[in-house]
Amino acid sequence: MDKIIDKKRSRRSFLKGVALLSGLAAVPVSFVSQQAYAAAKASKASMQYVDHPNGKKDCVSCIQFIPGKTAKADGLCKVVEGAIKPEGYCIAFAPKA
Ligand code: SF4
Repeated sequence: MDKIIDKKRSRRSFLKGVALLSGLAAVPVSFVSQQAYAAAKASKASMQYVDHPNGKKDCVSCIQFIPGKTAKADGLCKVVEGAIKPEGYCIAFAPKA
């Protein structure tokens, strides 16, 4: 009887260990993915970003722009790091269809 109880405990401990290890393994992967995504963006300088339009080309009319909370608030860009002004521009400009 004691052997059966020991086997159940042993299996339970093993399963807990596996669950714990899977949880620990998932955290670094998620963290690394976020870091890789953040690092994948180009700097404003390398993209020659300016906070004014280039003719009719501006961030708000670019497919890469992610709007801020209001129409005039700074947003984000899918390819350039940092806060992006709706009226800004860079050499990666790609017009919305
Ligand atoms: S790619 Fe350039 S132009 Fe387009 S939203 Fe980003 S910073 Fe603005």
